[in-house]
Amino acid sequence: MRVLMVAPPGAGKGTQGAVIAAHFDIPHIATGDLLRDHVARQTPLGRAVREHLDRGDLVPDHIVLDMVRDALVAAKEAGTGYVLDGMPRNITQARTLYQVGKSLAMTADVALHLQADDGELIRRLLARAALEHRSDDTEDVIRRRLALYHEVTHPIVTWYAERGILVSVDAMQPVERVGRQILTALEAIRPLLDHVPEHARTPIDLTGLGAAFGDA
Ligand code: ADP
Repeated sequence: MRVLMVAPPGAGKGTQGAVIAAHFDIPHIATGDLLRDHVARQTPLGRAVREHLDRGDLVPDHIVLDMVRDALVAAKEAGTGYVLDGMPRNITQARTLYQVGKSLAMTADVALHLQADDGELIRRLLARAALEHRSDDTEDVIRRRLALYHEVTHPIVTWYAERGILVSVDAMQPVERVGRQILTALEAIRPLLDHVPEHARTPIDLTGLGAAFGDA
């Protein structure tokens, strides 16, 4: 199973990415975590990206693309799929990632879109800020990250819908229910992956289903 996630900050990419990774036994490639790890270790890359992270800006495309290319090569060598959390974040990244995926025969099977309102996202991020101390979880920087999401990241959702691999989930629900809905949808799709070519697929929108789906 090869999954990428498109979601605003605070929607639960990290949490649900870990759920998906554990369920399918695949690596969880989280670009934000990889970047923060470089910052913590004060590597040259970490020093180059630190200010971008602190401001809530995107780091230059080539930096994340190189990191993710390496991670995809490793996943291919290990013979697994992946769940990619935090990339792509703009249309250039989406297109380049697709080219990299094609060259490795590792393009995503599913683009998972987690949907939530800005008010709820800000509430969650401020609550997290009180517990963890991420340098980008201050109110100004949270607003900057959300604005960037709406401006440059959200538009790529349409691109995945057109490719037929989009699955949209309502991330305003309790975290366990979001997780169950995601896993139920991915398990339903899994047997089709080898039989239905990408151009014959259609987007799946679970956001109107409410509580029932995945609760059985
Ligand atoms: P969030 O989604 O809550 O903003 P992440 O941990 O996914 O948290 O990302 C944190 C920061 O890492 C982003 O604000 C950005 O500076 C940087 N980053 C992560 N992924 C990318 C990417 N694909 N392209 C550019 N910058 C990125």
